[in-house]
Amino acid sequence: MPFRDCIGHQQSIAFLQSAVTHERLAHAYLFHGEDAVGKRLTAVRLAQALNCERPPETQGLDSCGACRSCRQIEARTHPDFFIIEPDPEQATRQIKIEQVRDIEHQIMYRPLIGERKICLIDDADRMTIGAANALLKTLEEPPAHSLFLVISSRPAALPATIRSRCQALRFTTPARTQVEAALILQRELPPADARFLAIVSEGRIGEALTADVKDTLARQQELVSLVRPQSLQSIGSILSSAETIAKTDRGQDMLVWLARWIRDLVLLQIEGDRDQILNLDDLATLETYAQKADTDALLDLLHEIELTEQRATRHLNLQMALEVILLRLRDAVTASPVPQST
Ligand SMILES: [Zn+2]
Repeated sequence: MPFRDCIGHQQSIAFLQSAVTHERLAHAYLFHGEDAVGKRLTAVRLAQALNCERPPETQGLDSCGACRSCRQIEARTHPDFFIIEPDPEQATRQIKIEQVRDIEHQIMYRPLIGERKICLIDDADRMTIGAANALLKTLEEPPAHSLFLVISSRPAALPATIRSRCQALRFTTPARTQVEAALILQRELPPADARFLAIVSEGRIGEALTADVKDTLARQQELVSLVRPQSLQSIGSILSSAETIAKTDRGQDMLVWLARWIRDLVLLQIEGDRDQILNLDDLATLETYAQKADTDALLDLLHEIELTEQRATRHLNLQMALEVILLRLRDAVTASPVPQST
């Protein structure tokens, strides 16, 4: 498939196309930027464009997406295209030195079909020190026919020696309207669902394109029922909700939804852009709360949720954390703190 699949990266693509046109393509690029914004997809499309057997007659370099070479690259069976990535089966998710050595060995030989041997290294910041050193040796003296596409969402975690051998291209998060348009076009979603997923994914288009709409909406509904006035009214109901959620594996997910909902509330209070509101279905409740809620307390609560999420990677009593957060939310959305009964 051609570059038009890559949503929101016209500048990076134009830069690469121009480098090819002017015969100035570097031997190594570092594609960096947030997770799931389209770095890997752009790298694959570049590999296809460089090898396409029937390139379209467009202005810049592009691929047809249909020829044997394009299909082989998509299927990862092209003899001149390699991908190194962490083994998903492994708990540590590292890229090992053996993986780099294997490819290095292959890269030394001339390309079998096209003009270049292309190696894509995804999640490159997960290379072990050994793997990074092995790659560095190749990057110091890359074979003339080689192209390395190094991808990372945590470029600071890469050795500086590797970064300095690559031309860096920053991939920014696509605009929400671009994500929405892609969802409507590629997934044929109704506009309301596309809007919803686009906001939830915060521009991580890879996530938006694969997310289960029904499942995501169900999570939102669960949150909405957790924060409706009837639920927040009674401390007993708050405690039992916290207990129920903590027993499932959705506890941390619930914190994320809770933060999104509180952000909506704050947005309404400060009369911000309503187009940014996620929980449109719950607008009536949000507006009622917004009239009397304490903005400072809500902002503190957002900070508290963030801290809880960070701690959650370590041992954390999620039930207790949820209880505290929900009780504080209850206080924040009522005019004056409700005296707690013992
Ligand atoms: Zn092609």
